[in-house]
Amino acid sequence: MMTIKCTRCKKKIIKYKKIGRGRLWYCWKDRIIEDNSVHVGSEIKCQCGNLIGIDEGKRIKMRQNSFHYSGTVMRKKKI
Ligand SMILES: [Zn+2]
Repeated sequence: MMTIKCTRCKKKIIKYKKIGRGRLWYCWKDRIIEDNSVHVGSEIKCQCGNLIGIDEGKRIKMRQNSFHYSGTVMRKKKI
């Protein structure tokens, strides 16, 4: 489970089930466990007003440098 935090106010914004390694470019909405963000139209913001990402329908395109994240990554299951 990844916890995405705002770089400006350090608050927890999203709890996310990330699968696979690598940078977090997108957040798929069906993997979001907890969402404390503020939705203004297609903009996803922290409660402090910091723009975190853009809503693209099924996923959120994350704005790099406005958040950081920590936690564990789920490994892809071998079939
Ligand atoms: Zn914030």
